[in-house]
Amino acid sequence: MTTQVEQPRRVPGAPEMLLQTSRHTIVKIPLPLPLPDLKVVNAYAVGTGDGVTLIDPGWASRESETMLVAALDSTGYTPADIRQILVTHGHWDHYTQGVKWRDELGVELLLGAEERHSIDAFDAGDGVHPNQVPVMERAGAAGLARAVAELQWQPYEREVAFTPPDRWLQDGDTVDAGGVTVTARATPGHTRGHMVFEVGGVAFTGDHLLPRITPSIALERAPERLPLRSYLRSLQLFLELPDARMLPAHGGTDQHTRRRAEELLDHHDQRLAVIAELIAAGAETAFDVARLMRWTRHERALAELETIHQMVAVMEVVAHLELLVSRGVLSVDESAPVSSFTVC
Ligand SMILES: [Zn+2]
Repeated sequence: MTTQVEQPRRVPGAPEMLLQTSRHTIVKIPLPLPLPDLKVVNAYAVGTGDGVTLIDPGWASRESETMLVAALDSTGYTPADIRQILVTHGHWDHYTQGVKWRDELGVELLLGAEERHSIDAFDAGDGVHPNQVPVMERAGAAGLARAVAELQWQPYEREVAFTPPDRWLQDGDTVDAGGVTVTARATPGHTRGHMVFEVGGVAFTGDHLLPRITPSIALERAPERLPLRSYLRSLQLFLELPDARMLPAHGGTDQHTRRRAEELLDHHDQRLAVIAELIAAGAETAFDVARLMRWTRHERALAELETIHQMVAVMEVVAHLELLVSRGVLSVDESAPVSSFTVC
C-alpha cells in the first residue's frame, strides 16, 4: 500500500509488452485493486521458452485473477506455465494472489526474508492496524489513535490468506527464470523485507521506487526500529548500482532508478530540514508537526485526510523525527506518555 490519495478512478490498462529479446519477454499487466484510493497494481511477467515468472501478481480477488489469466493467455502462457512467483513485499496488493496460487496450483512463492516478522505477527483478530495505535498515542494524536483502533476490516479484506512463502529470499539471491537470472536486492524501508528484482538493465522496484510519490514507511505489523534510515540507505543503493529502467508496482515505466532515487533522497532531505525547523520553532510532538505540514500533491491539511492517511502522515513524521534524534539533531523526552522533541 502507498500513501497515494485521490487518484482518479480508472480501469487497469491492457497488458503491455515492454521488452522482447531473443531470450525473454517482459510484459506489464495492470490489475485492479479493491481499495478506495489506490486502483491499480502492476504485475509483471518475465517469459522465456521455459515458462513464465510472475512478479507481484496482485490482490487475491476474482476480478484481478481473471484479468491476470487473460493477460497470460494473450502472451501465450497459462497458469500451468508459471515457474515461480516473486513478490517485492508482503503488502496485500502485491502478495495475496501469490499466496492463493501457491495454495491452489502449487507454484513456488518467494518473498524477502525480513517480511517474516510482519507475517508471523499477523492476527486478523488484533484489528486492522493494532501496532499503529500506540504510535499515534505516543505522537500526541489521542483522537486519531482512537479512530485507528476503531477501523474495521472491509469485506474485500476478510478471508484473505496471509501466510509465509515457500522460500525466504536474502539480499543477492538469484532465481532462474528459465535461462534468465533474476537478482534480489534487499531494499528495506517501505517494509522491512522489501526486495527489488533485477533482470539485465531492468529493475522491478515494487513500492521502493515509485514514479510520483514517496512510499509510506513501516506500514506493517512488526516494523523495524529506524525504518526511514533503512529507506534512505535503500535509496543510496541505487546511486551505486548500474542505472536501470524502473518498472514500479504502481504507475508508468518511463523512468530510471538512479534519477528517481536522487529525487527521493532530495525530497527526504527537505522533509528532514522542514521538520527540524518546525521543532526549532516550537512544535513539540509528532502530531504538532504533522498538523503544521501539508499533505499529498494537493497540499491538504492533516485534518482533511481520511483516518488511514492521517495515520500514515503521522507515521511519516515520527520516522523523520526518530531519524533526526539518531543523527543527534534533535533530542526526545520519552518520560511522559507523549514523546516531546527539542533541538539539541
Ligand atoms: Zn506496499
